[in-house]
Amino acid sequence: MPLIFDQTFDLIVIGGGAAGFMGAITAAEAGLSSILILEATNKPLEKVRLSGGGRCNVTNACWTPQDLVNYYPRGMVALRSPFSRFATGDAVSWFNEHNLNLIEEGDGRIFPKSNNSSEVVACLRNSAKAAGVSLKKQTVVTEIQYLQEKGFLVNYCGGTCLSKFVLLATGGHPSGRRLATKLGHNIVNPVPSLFSFSLKEPLLSKCAGLTLNNVQLKLQTTKKNFFETGRVLLTHKGISGPAVLRLSAFGARDLNSDKYTANLTVNWLGENLEEVKNSLQLFRCNSANKTLISARPFLHLPKRLWATILKKNNLEFCIRWAELSKNLESKLIDGLINSRYLIVGKGPFGEEFVTAGGVDLSQVNMKTMESRLCKGLFFAGELLDIDGVTGGFNFQHCWTSGWLAGNAIAKSFI
Ligand SMILES: Cc1cc2nc3c(=O)[nH]c(=O)nc-3n(C[C@H](O)[C@H](O)[C@H](O)COP(=O)(O)OP(=O)(O)OC[C@H]3O[C@@H](n4cnc5c(N)ncnc54)[C@H](O)[C@@H]3O)c2cc1C
Repeated sequence: MPLIFDQTFDLIVIGGGAAGFMGAITAAEAGLSSILILEATNKPLEKVRLSGGGRCNVTNACWTPQDLVNYYPRGMVALRSPFSRFATGDAVSWFNEHNLNLIEEGDGRIFPKSNNSSEVVACLRNSAKAAGVSLKKQTVVTEIQYLQEKGFLVNYCGGTCLSKFVLLATGGHPSGRRLATKLGHNIVNPVPSLFSFSLKEPLLSKCAGLTLNNVQLKLQTTKKNFFETGRVLLTHKGISGPAVLRLSAFGARDLNSDKYTANLTVNWLGENLEEVKNSLQLFRCNSANKTLISARPFLHLPKRLWATILKKNNLEFCIRWAELSKNLESKLIDGLINSRYLIVGKGPFGEEFVTAGGVDLSQVNMKTMESRLCKGLFFAGELLDIDGVTGGFNFQHCWTSGWLAGNAIAKSFI
């Protein structure tokens, strides 16, 4: 039967997001001439535009591949090889060479100098245009047929195209996973990552809006414990902030199988038992006549949280420091550094939420991002079973996988 199609291309990229654009631009700049990006919506690069609260956290100043992989709960081992070819320094140089200046913040996150995500969108769109990449918006790809050495027939609403290569870069969208499954690939069950925790703790809601640094967290799921230290934000329903989002990322699979119920132990002070005991001893001598509520020993603990800790541990506000029994002192210490909460659900997502799970990495050649099952089919971005914690790591993996795929496709063509 003759093949019926509207047009032929060297490369069709399915999905006009960060990974798809990077793949298309790289392939075009490496010499491929007819490239088409098919994008389902009329807003390509929309996630880039929305990202980082409208600032786009492009990457993170974590310069060595060995360090960088540690920020990926899924992909930690598999990313060693891709990052040895294209890591954060390469991404920064790439954007500089494409006329976008980036700037590093104190915590290592890297943003466009203008602090405006639309500059990143413009950089990618202009670079694609300059390299001769075509873009077709509002085009949902519904089927890909693998024709072995002839390439791929790509069906979309309103037409069919033939392409020698296909780069599948559909992000966390289920339709991309369906396309990959139909071509024989396994999908690692997709679950959400980067979310806050809802806690069964009405008292804590009084502290909504407070942020604390250097808080130590221990998440206990039925299978495994996870530990994080860092900044947290108290919310009306529970707890959020970078340290919680990191916990949610590393615990994403276990939390999902436990239906988002787990134990959370919080060390509000980030100090050990000896340090806390010593501080309390000194404070008790100096503030003997003051009450627990009127004088707090750890000034970096906000008053509202201090009062909540006293209440949770049934410590009366009016007790004087001199009168605090050994037993009550241990209760207080426990409430400060070993406070237990019950997680009862996923809270709202963090800014940067991503899908954990996706195309099984054992079916992908991580040097080229080519499928091990269908020659000529490549993957990039969030569609893969790779995800990072917050801080620019999710985009970094899109730049890396897109770049590797684009280069490999151009090389295979020549
Ligand atoms: C609000 C928010 C803020 C974020 N901020 C940051 C940040 O600052 N830094 C960071 O590193 N990460 C951030 N992330 C995560 C980051 O945005 C994603 O990891 C990244 O966008 C994934 O890129 P991608 O190209 O793989 O997929 P996407 O950006 O999701 O692009 C995939 C594209 O494919 C299209 N598509 C899907 N199915 C089809 C189909 N069948 N046919 C045609 N087209 C299709 C979609 O419409 C979409 O445009 C944020 C995420 C969110 C939600």
